[in-house]
Amino acid sequence: MKNIRVRFAPSPTGALHIGGVRTALYNYLLARKTGGTFILRIEDTDQTRYVPGAEEYIIESLRWLGLEPEEGPGFGGEFGPYRQSDRKELYGRFARQLVDSGHAYYAFDSPEELDARREAEKEKGNHNFKYDATVRTAMRNSLSLPPAEVDRLITTGVPYTIRLKVPQNETIRIDDLIRGEVSFESNELDDKVLLKADGMPTYHLANIVDDHLMQITHVIRGEEWLPSTAHHVLLYRSLGWESDMPRFAHLPLILKPNGKGKLSKRDGVKLGIPVFPLAWEGDSPEDSFTGFREFGFDPRAVINFLAFLGWNPGTEQELFSVEELAEAFSLERIGKAGARFDFDKARWFNQQYLQHSADAELAKLVRPFLERHGHSPEEAYLTAVCGLMKERITVLTDLWENGYYFFEEVREYDEKTVQKKWSAERRKPFEDLVDTLRQLPDFQAPAIEAATKEFMQRHELKFGDVLPMLRIALSGTLQGPAVFDMMAVLGQERSVERIASALQIFEGLIARSN
Ligand code: GLU
Repeated sequence: MKNIRVRFAPSPTGALHIGGVRTALYNYLLARKTGGTFILRIEDTDQTRYVPGAEEYIIESLRWLGLEPEEGPGFGGEFGPYRQSDRKELYGRFARQLVDSGHAYYAFDSPEELDARREAEKEKGNHNFKYDATVRTAMRNSLSLPPAEVDRLITTGVPYTIRLKVPQNETIRIDDLIRGEVSFESNELDDKVLLKADGMPTYHLANIVDDHLMQITHVIRGEEWLPSTAHHVLLYRSLGWESDMPRFAHLPLILKPNGKGKLSKRDGVKLGIPVFPLAWEGDSPEDSFTGFREFGFDPRAVINFLAFLGWNPGTEQELFSVEELAEAFSLERIGKAGARFDFDKARWFNQQYLQHSADAELAKLVRPFLERHGHSPEEAYLTAVCGLMKERITVLTDLWENGYYFFEEVREYDEKTVQKKWSAERRKPFEDLVDTLRQLPDFQAPAIEAATKEFMQRHELKFGDVLPMLRIALSGTLQGPAVFDMMAVLGQERSVERIASALQIFEGLIARSN
């Protein structure tokens, strides 16, 4: 069998939607599974939609997720350049070849003429004007005009486009690897522009020429491209490349969390969930989005979650490393039906990954989130905190949200509990505890626990009198890891100081309630 070559071919028109990331992932997985090649091609021929920074964003997203291409702009490869704007010259040649072989034609209709025609059709009740076989002979093109006139128009520099001459009365069949046979009637298709008046190719021409020259074997892309595939098949045929046309696989839609309709970038903002891999700063707040990375996701969890948006392994197993995904992956197990974007499921995957991470690994992942708050703790300390908090976080931002007190002083105390459980006469015995802890030669959790128990006996206090108060003194809240572990990690000096100063604060709090 031929070496499998797949490509991810985004247009740099803004932030890369999560659906695009899934397309990249499925291409990547097929390449990994088969020992094939994963290629990145930047489709930037539509200059009106070009957005600066979008290509860098795409590449940074792929890097963050570990989906690096073997070939692509900046990645090397023998089939480059991999940015279509750098291949401009190439496409015109193929467009002309199609004119010469009778599969395409020059069209001189100006945008104004086309608009006027569209308006006239509308007045007649036809809102769907198509430049196709039924009208082409009545338009200004090399099929309707005498050859001498065509030559004159070209040599005098009148702008023209090159259009595909779609044949009449043909059924075009595609054997889609996900959908099975899909057919299109050629009479429904318009004569697509292949080369624009400025000499740039349209998506259709550039895409086919590049897939052919880059020896792409499988085109895996979103369902929204299925209708274009009929034109693509005609192009392969007309260029004489049909015998090694790639196989097509059109991926199902990604649906909103409620399952109703396609997931849009607006949904992210509306629902407060990420639908992009990374944050994107657009020109306006409406065009600025946060991403999975900034939400505190582990890229491995994002990969695992996305893999299941449309594909399933056919077993109960849900947690897959990328290597395991590559092994289990097959296009046959991708469904046709839309896949619901279930953000709670994404969070569940993330929680699983964080809990299965080694403490030191988690420390690395979480560090940038602490740096955002101006903290760069020692590695050993952060690793210990991660060990304690691991069970209590779903996304990386939770470590700060729920455990900021490991890095700075307690900001707020659980006032209600203090008022319920604390009384002035407790102060003396707790001062004794502070002294005991200050003198403890070993400040590991078992020693702290033993000393605390002894103290409780000495003063005839119960667990319920002591532990919640210690917890609040150290962290401000009743939630959190086991209190003796927390003390051991915070360290002797910090724990003792915190408890000592909390005793005073508690007094203030109960005074307030009286
Ligand atoms: N440039 C197209 C896009 O932005 C590529 C579609 C395809 O893969 O053919 O999605």
